[in-house]
Amino acid sequence: MTRKYIDCREFPSDMNCSVALSADTEQELLDAAVQHAVTVHKHQDTPEFRQQLRQMFKEGTPPAEHPLGHEA
Ligand SMILES: [Zn+2]
Repeated sequence: MTRKYIDCREFPSDMNCSVALSADTEQELLDAAVQHAVTVHKHQDTPEFRQQLRQMFKEGTPPAEHPLGHEA
């Protein structure tokens, strides 16, 4: 099974969040990502938002380096 992850560093944000979440299943990752987005980024937990998050998922594990190749 391939792990999936979502990396907050890839999202434009005014707080320079560097959290990356990973899980073995898309459902686990989605739950964790929604919790993080709601509590830290004040997003609304809606079906549309969950759909958007799901499209951001990547396969594998989060890279150690900043994905954009530069530090903020
Ligand atoms: Zn974040």
